[in-house]
Amino acid sequence: MANINRREFGKLAGAIGFAGTGTSVFGSFAIAQGAAKVVIVGGGAGGATVAHYVKKGDPKLDVTLIEPNPRYSSSFFSNLYLGGFRTLQSLSHDYAGLTKLGVKVVRDYASDVDTAAKVVKTRGGRSFSYDRLVLSPGIDIKYDSIAGYSRDAATVMPHAYTTDEAQKKLLKSQLDAMKDGGTVIVAPPGNPFRCPPGPYERVCMIAHQLKMKKPKSKLIVLDPKKAFSKQPVFMEAYERYYKGIVEVNLTTEIDNFGVVRVDPKTREVEIKDGKKFKGDVVNIIPQQRAGEIAIKAGCAEGDWCPVNPESFASKKVDNVYVLGDAAIATDMPKSAFSANSQAKVVAADILTALASKEKFPARFRNTCWSMVAPDDGIKVLANYAPKDGMLDPSGSFVSKRGEDADVRKQNYAESVSWYDSITADMFAKTAAAPAAKKKG
Ligand SMILES: Cc1cc2nc3c(=O)[nH]c(=O)nc-3n(C[C@H](O)[C@H](O)[C@H](O)COP(=O)(O)OP(=O)(O)OC[C@H]3O[C@@H](n4cnc5c(N)ncnc54)[C@H](O)[C@@H]3O)c2cc1C
Repeated sequence: MANINRREFGKLAGAIGFAGTGTSVFGSFAIAQGAAKVVIVGGGAGGATVAHYVKKGDPKLDVTLIEPNPRYSSSFFSNLYLGGFRTLQSLSHDYAGLTKLGVKVVRDYASDVDTAAKVVKTRGGRSFSYDRLVLSPGIDIKYDSIAGYSRDAATVMPHAYTTDEAQKKLLKSQLDAMKDGGTVIVAPPGNPFRCPPGPYERVCMIAHQLKMKKPKSKLIVLDPKKAFSKQPVFMEAYERYYKGIVEVNLTTEIDNFGVVRVDPKTREVEIKDGKKFKGDVVNIIPQQRAGEIAIKAGCAEGDWCPVNPESFASKKVDNVYVLGDAAIATDMPKSAFSANSQAKVVAADILTALASKEKFPARFRNTCWSMVAPDDGIKVLANYAPKDGMLDPSGSFVSKRGEDADVRKQNYAESVSWYDSITADMFAKTAAAPAAKKKG
């Protein structure tokens, strides 16, 4: 499957004009003004991929990637860490490949953007001028969306929903330390949020650990929504593998299970109906918004950033692109696969503008796999193309209930292969990282 996935990446890149690119004709813009400058904020699924493809597309361009962390700790596959199928280290990636390619990787936090002067400022006191700016800062947690929740409260009731490694570690250590017979609460957010199937895969992974090590325990899901991604197949998995452990409470016409208040001291949560639940481990996943820098740059309308679906150029600020979770990508889910796919379109648009590369029609793709049990993976996928200002889905597929074990095993194998492929693609690794280290 590794080859199939790499071919898919190749096809995608080829479709937007990258196949075989190494050096290129240097565009008139860059010749006139010295090396044109591309500044990218955020070295994750979107930003790192843009840096890779812009630099590879035209090595003469001056490409700067601003990212505060020396290593990227992926949110994707972090549920598998909770389930004991991955180490935390296997989620961690450095920027050596991008540096080797010639990208200037700056370890700093972008604190502001002067879009009139076309300058990015950093907490470290530096300034970076740009011809094109790319913002892929991911999400910020809206701590104030739940009364009593805060950065401090998250050190007791972790969200574990960002690239913050400490949050993942904290949730895992709380689960490991919990007594048999304990209660875990998982509180997913309302739409829209990062990785729609993420909380429900997490339920499976935590439940798997409980089943193996603490079978008298319970996992309660308190959800403000009436429905969720891949619901029939997740519900089938809860029934098949985790019966008696997992209890899913979805909001109905009668009850609203959205968590509105938490008390970190007692580890109690209150739902909209006023009912209280007490957990030994409480995983609160609050509402989210585009990373702060996109909002400061003036790219947001409300919590998220509207973009032109042909290019992911900001609809609000000239010469700025917003992609990944921070963007409003209409029907395209907020996923690493989506961000990586969008990044190639952004890179192509920049290369057209700054290096006279031919422009190809934008095409996007997303696939989200979720692991529900050992060797059992489910998936949802679709292609997207710009149409009437939206991203129009086609060729959709979603896993069904009652599928053969072989199909599910194959899905899981695909997902492992995809993880290696996408991280190699994001960070310009010459060879993919070793395959997933499955524990035990
Ligand atoms: C539990 C979970 C499971 C998931 N599973 C999957 C999956 O199976 N498949 C999938 O495709 N997706 C999955 N996702 C979603 C995926 O992780 C995100 O959609 C993806 O990472 C978004 O890419 P991004 O570039 O927008 O943000 P990120 O990848 O989060 O990158 C943002 C980067 O920007 C940096 N940054 C932020 N602000 C600044 C600033 N001001 N200055 C400099 N740098 C800054 C951050 O440090 C970070 O490195 C999952 C997410 C979670 C939480």
